[in-house]
Amino acid sequence: MIPVRDDLRSLEGYHSPQVDVRVRLNTNESPLAPPAAWRDAFVAELSRVEWHRYPDRAATDLRAAIAGWHGVDPSQVFVANGSNEVLQTLLLTYAGPGRTVATFEPTYQLHAHIARITGATVVEGERATDFTLDPTEMRRVVAEHQPHVTFLCSPNNPTGVVEPPELLEQLLEVAPGLVVVDEAYAQFAEWTALGHVDDQTPVVVVRTFSKTWSMAASRLGYLIGPRWLVAELEKVVLPYHLDAAKQIAGRLALQFVDDMDARVAEIVSERTRLVAAMELLDLEVFPSGANFVLIRPRSMPGRELWQGLLDRDVLVRDCSSWPRLDHCLRVTIGTPAENDAFLDALTEVLP
Ligand SMILES: *Cc1c(COP(=O)(O)O)cnc(C)c1O
Repeated sequence: MIPVRDDLRSLEGYHSPQVDVRVRLNTNESPLAPPAAWRDAFVAELSRVEWHRYPDRAATDLRAAIAGWHGVDPSQVFVANGSNEVLQTLLLTYAGPGRTVATFEPTYQLHAHIARITGATVVEGERATDFTLDPTEMRRVVAEHQPHVTFLCSPNNPTGVVEPPELLEQLLEVAPGLVVVDEAYAQFAEWTALGHVDDQTPVVVVRTFSKTWSMAASRLGYLIGPRWLVAELEKVVLPYHLDAAKQIAGRLALQFVDDMDARVAEIVSERTRLVAAMELLDLEVFPSGANFVLIRPRSMPGRELWQGLLDRDVLVRDCSSWPRLDHCLRVTIGTPAENDAFLDALTEVLP
């Protein structure tokens, strides 16, 4: 064995076990496959790909489709292999050795993880016990550390908290560097930061096809940001990183916006039903604007609840050993039948 970079020696990998169970509510995917008409159109176009040629390096049609949907210019759109690659490209470009990245914990683990891999120093602000972010704490972190990149995640994973719009406005007033708003779940909430994106403001909004669009398998994500920033990212990302199949998949998905909106509405209504049912049980249920809900049992260890659910063929995310999330589990909203199975199991396991 040869040693890795000194700064990577204590790095742990990203853990999200893929267990084979009947009801999988652990990774916030859509519970439904994409529309059959999307699959047919995708297969038809795949047969016409010129496989011996490199794909369109600028992903012209895909970016035009995304830009059209959001009402922005294609030059404001950067697309990559999952929003994780969007985040990685951002951090390679604006973080790296000698630079500082701020997160407000607990939040999406990969923000800090990818930042560290680029060699940046991560500073962690603290959320309140109800997982909201106090503007005073936000200002303290920014004033003290002058971060080159500051992350907000709204709705926040794994807590479900939707940041108030005023918080972003206050952050934009004080942040000396780039502000990244990770909106992997924004369609399940009532508010988006997209209205803040323009060429004068150093803010980007990151989205993914993995959650809302029933396309986690395709690994497709993007950001909307200032033109000058997108141009810089294009220099850093590997050439031809987006394969031809993925470009087709994403472009065609945008022809099914109505189907996707209907699915989002159904998940939001299932979330309301599930939260109401869980509030009658011996649980702390944190308010969520996403397609998942964070819960904490009041009178048994979280790990025991997780195991009890798994014994009944229901897999949720065990956050109980994560920092600041003692005894917490995160459950993804599934189909009505999956949610019923979860509720049944939950009622059985809880004392
Ligand atoms: C799931 C998730 C992503 C998605 O990552 P992909 O690489 O697009 O699958 C990004 N950010 C957050 C906060 C997430 O929860």
